[in-house]
Amino acid sequence: MPGGAPGTPSSKAKEKLMLRTKVVVALYPFRAIEGGDLSLEKGAEYEVLDDSQEHWWKVKDENGSIGYIPSNYVKEKELLGLQKYEWYVGDMSRQRAESLLKQEDKEGCFVVRNSSTKGLYTLSLYTKVPHPHVKHYHIKQNTRGEFYLSEKHCCGSIPDLVNYHRHNSGGLASRLKTSPCDRPVPPTAGLSHDKWEIDPTELHLLEELGSGQFGVVRRGKWRGSIDVAVKMMKEGTMSEDDFIEEAKVMTKLQHTNLVQLYGVCSKDRPIYIVTEYMRHGSLLNYLRRHEASLSTNVGYLLDICIQVCRGMAYLERRNYIHRDLAARNCLVGSENVVKVADFGLARYVLDDQYTSSGGTKFPIKWAPPEVLNYTRFSSKSDVWAYGVLMWEVFTCGKMPYGRLKNAEVVDRVQRGLILEKPKACVKEVYEIMRKCWAHCPEVRPSFRVLKEQLINVNQGLVND
Ligand code: AMP
Repeated sequence: MPGGAPGTPSSKAKEKLMLRTKVVVALYPFRAIEGGDLSLEKGAEYEVLDDSQEHWWKVKDENGSIGYIPSNYVKEKELLGLQKYEWYVGDMSRQRAESLLKQEDKEGCFVVRNSSTKGLYTLSLYTKVPHPHVKHYHIKQNTRGEFYLSEKHCCGSIPDLVNYHRHNSGGLASRLKTSPCDRPVPPTAGLSHDKWEIDPTELHLLEELGSGQFGVVRRGKWRGSIDVAVKMMKEGTMSEDDFIEEAKVMTKLQHTNLVQLYGVCSKDRPIYIVTEYMRHGSLLNYLRRHEASLSTNVGYLLDICIQVCRGMAYLERRNYIHRDLAARNCLVGSENVVKVADFGLARYVLDDQYTSSGGTKFPIKWAPPEVLNYTRFSSKSDVWAYGVLMWEVFTCGKMPYGRLKNAEVVDRVQRGLILEKPKACVKEVYEIMRKCWAHCPEVRPSFRVLKEQLINVNQGLVND
């Protein structure tokens, strides 16, 4: 049929589409340090020359300079929407918006975020009157497609609406004044395009952050500017060559709720693993430290679970198994973002006490029956561990099964006994935990499904 089937572009039109240049706008500044990279100026436009790699694109700036830039720092001009505005924070949850605005502590400080109902937006506004608190307003649309917060004042677009309320409170608790500044810039997948081997002389090591299974972790600066965490691997604790190969794959895993691996220093010993720096440390300690304020805030605890679930759903989509998911292996960063760390590392540990289910360091309390019986790991064994992590979150960091010995825990799990409902946990959330602890792995929900169920419960709890 000449011109192709209705609705499908003709070959000429297709050619035209392919020739169309893609123009992107920088959402964040980026400083090119490595040769071949190109600096980005926030708000400036760039022509994309090659986007065949997922995380680093070759672009041209307005002066004709060409180089690689991190693809998560730009957005296609035509799809930009609200992202160019300082006040738009995208998918930030109600709870995180509240803590961000409270931290700023400025009358009239506000953000606009995606509502948990797809396609809708919410304005979160901080006021000190009569006492410091955050109000959330749904941005509604009338039949003419206009946006409004109070029906008397409708505007053609959300930016126009924001501008209107900068001058008139129009029924809001305060006029809109400022938005949180100095918001963190996201990590890049590796520190430069195609770079995962890091020169240790370019790392300036600072204070110790903690120590774990593999050795000491220190804060550091890469080339004097980028904050990093450096894990110094105790010699003999891991099968190094295999891990170094795997690190190339791991730097390419990128998600808001995964701790970014920047690369490794593998030429000398000990090996360094260099990752994104997370200022509030491990989730387990964070829960324990903030128990007093967190234990009554079910919405906040649920939001922590949803964040971890988003990171895990990404790993599941990539067929990547964590193998040691627990609150101690998640970290909390700026603006209280929660991220999953140490994914896949367990495969390279050489210590039998950690790798064999009979070993003293094996995470028995997070392991489902098929792991205890046959060491059979899968995304569904991660789901079981995720259920235990939810329990840790809702008890603000209690030890699962209390002081029970490993053998007693194994016995309980084999007999189908599960952890009790934590006090702070509503029954809908406990129902979800129970689904994670289905004896048969096939019956457990996927992380994708869990995420949807948790978001639904969250919507029911608070009118987001
Ligand atoms: P690990 O060896 O991963 O168990 O880490 C030991 C401790 O170091 C953790 O409990 C954290 O307190 C700290 N830590 C590890 N990685 C980071 C990071 N990326 N940012 C900040 N602190 C970290």
